[in-house]
Amino acid sequence: YFRGLEQAGIRLNPAQIAAVRCTEGPLLTLAGAGSGKTSTLVCRTGYLLDVRGIEPSGILLLTFSSKAAAEMRERIAGLPGIGEYEAGRIQARTFHSFCLWLLFSQGGQKEIFGDTRRQHIQLQQIMRELSLQDAYPPENLLALLSSYKVNLMTAQQLPEKSEADRQMKRILLRYEAWKEENGKIDFDDVLTGAHAMLKQRPELLERLRRRFTHLMVDEFQDTNLLQYEIVKMIAAPRNNLMVVGDDDQTIYSFNGARSEFILEFEKLYPKARVITLDINYRSVPAIVGLGNEVIRHNKMRRNKTLRAANGGSLLPAYMRPDSADDEANEVVEFIRREVAAGRREYGDFAILYRSSSSNRAVLEQLVIRDIPHIDYGDGRLLYEHWLVKPVLDHMRLSINRRDFDAMPSVLPTLYIARDKGMAHIRETDAGRPKKGPLVHLLTLPGLKDFQLDKIRQRLEMIRSLKGLVPAAAITQIRQSFYDAYIQAGEHSEQTSHREMLKEMLDELETSAGRFDSIVSFLAFVDDMLLRNQQTAAVKSQAQGNRVALMTIHKSKGLEFPVVFLIGASEGTLPHSSALGADSLRDTRVGLEGDASYAEALEEERRLAYVAVTRAKEQLFVSSPAMQRGKKAAVSRFLLSAFGQDTSASDAASRAEFGGRRVGAPDPGRFGKVRTGRMGRADAQPGSSGQSRGAAAPARTQSVPVWLCTSDSCVAWTRIMHSKDMNAA
Ligand code: ATP
Ligand code: MG
Repeated sequence: YFRGLEQAGIRLNPAQIAAVRCTEGPLLTLAGAGSGKTSTLVCRTGYLLDVRGIEPSGILLLTFSSKAAAEMRERIAGLPGIGEYEAGRIQARTFHSFCLWLLFSQGGQKEIFGDTRRQHIQLQQIMRELSLQDAYPPENLLALLSSYKVNLMTAQQLPEKSEADRQMKRILLRYEAWKEENGKIDFDDVLTGAHAMLKQRPELLERLRRRFTHLMVDEFQDTNLLQYEIVKMIAAPRNNLMVVGDDDQTIYSFNGARSEFILEFEKLYPKARVITLDINYRSVPAIVGLGNEVIRHNKMRRNKTLRAANGGSLLPAYMRPDSADDEANEVVEFIRREVAAGRREYGDFAILYRSSSSNRAVLEQLVIRDIPHIDYGDGRLLYEHWLVKPVLDHMRLSINRRDFDAMPSVLPTLYIARDKGMAHIRETDAGRPKKGPLVHLLTLPGLKDFQLDKIRQRLEMIRSLKGLVPAAAITQIRQSFYDAYIQAGEHSEQTSHREMLKEMLDELETSAGRFDSIVSFLAFVDDMLLRNQQTAAVKSQAQGNRVALMTIHKSKGLEFPVVFLIGASEGTLPHSSALGADSLRDTRVGLEGDASYAEALEEERRLAYVAVTRAKEQLFVSSPAMQRGKKAAVSRFLLSAFGQDTSASDAASRAEFGGRRVGAPDPGRFGKVRTGRMGRADAQPGSSGQSRGAAAPARTQSVPVWLCTSDSCVAWTRIMHSKDMNAA
């Protein structure tokens, strides 16, 4: 079998072979990024089929994302001696899809309630029934419920310590009852439902145990208790269970993932074989070295250092552009040139970022230059997002009050139903056309006084926009209906939804800042929307060969020849939500204050590690000096990888982002870091001599800076507005 693999170009190392051969009993493989964990799972599957003669339907492979599952199926189908038919009979799925399959195979009649907006509406409805109108943001309630469910608890067990606790519990108990009565299940219920079914129906569990003789779990570090329980139940009593993971890549702890399960696994199965892999086959040495340096600074981890198997002298490049737009321009222009010169294909590139709204600038550049790309987010431009559209539509109405297409999105922000409002406007306007048909809303029957006031204010606001520059207009608009909503969350828990909305609006303002009139900004937006529709057609033609855009979360387990990690600035990576200590309070039960802050920061650092280790040959990291209209310091994760002390930037960021413990920022040192001067790491930490002596670089000049760290020598190139990153 192994000779066959070699002939097919897959040459496993002795540790991998040992893992493949160990087919009975529990097996744990803990290893760093790119060390061949997933490859080992794939080859082990082939071995089970080919050598051990296991039925394909007896193998259950679980992983985290559907993209990873699809890739795994593809790689299995590509193994020598495995036909498509066999590969197709293996269950290689995400936890979620496996549980869904389980429920439906047992005649589950329930309707999946997958749309978060519908969940929100239902919760709001319940709050109204309980006279608790809008007392709690629905997304907080759902996060709370979810954190209990993934830890095998139910809404019954929610705390009742305070009045707020009791109210939330009442709402959530009602929500659970409502779903039950109406035959609906939501995302988490798929897992809880499957788990409950296995517990209640021993005969079913028995059948599954007989069928699935061999279980494997990839990305084990990101499983939560609920998922882990399901796996353990099905694996018992044979326990032919192989789990692979990397504690440094736990990036879903907001979903209840605990890398501690790795330790727990060894306790639960004292006879488990443990096989470690420590050779990285993915990346060139300098990238492996950088990955080691980035993650080394986390305290809560198992110590491990990867060696690089591959040669290659390409070095990671670093850039500190002025803004995200400059950054996007450099990145996309680089891609275009590489492809034009025949050195690369579009499919070789991936652009990674911390949060989904930070791809606005690169997406625009790709669309403008007609470069085939695929966005693994929702594929929409910022301007198409349902939360951003109302803002743009207010601007449209300010320059054309008869823009009927712009009206529907404005209505919900006035608490008026779209259909009813539009029907009334059109009807009234047909009889007595007014210059601004929105005025007709004032005659809509059944309005309350506060609504009439709101409409008047809004009409006035729209009129007032006319003379403003677009960025100022956006500020006005968001103040009139979004900011109150965003701020409402700041006093209780920061929530991801509000955070996302705020980020999008900041990003929109930044984008608009490039234009001096509303008309020119909207013309640009419309042009982008049109082009994006056209490239949608191109996209489908250029199957596969496209630049990939995704969040770091989505990139887990994947690899690309060239990776751009954009937005590596404080406030973005680490993300401001982690710097504002409270964000994880909901989901990390039992962790408070500094402990939760430290946890959150370590998770952010793991994200940086995951991003950096996706690159095979070339890695570009950039930290714009301005992010979403604010000055942004270089990410502490880069600085610490360069051996610089980051405590000052920590204190300053915590002050800025509202962390609980606010230290005294050292403006001198922080300021210096912020300029992006990177000195030699072997200079005295924090000494101001780091960049003294060297003349300030001219803006078009590139200045290579060498940084020697303890066990790797990484060369970094600082490029400012360089025309050619490669030459630099
Ligand atoms: P991650 O932690 O990012 O999920 P991983 O440990 O699962 O990484 P793989 O994706 O399996 O790593 O492998 C990384 C790369 O190394 C892949 O391109 C794979 O083909 C290659 N690889 C794995 N094992 C070997 C080997 N023994 N010899 C050569 N290349 C290998
Ligand atoms: Mg993997």
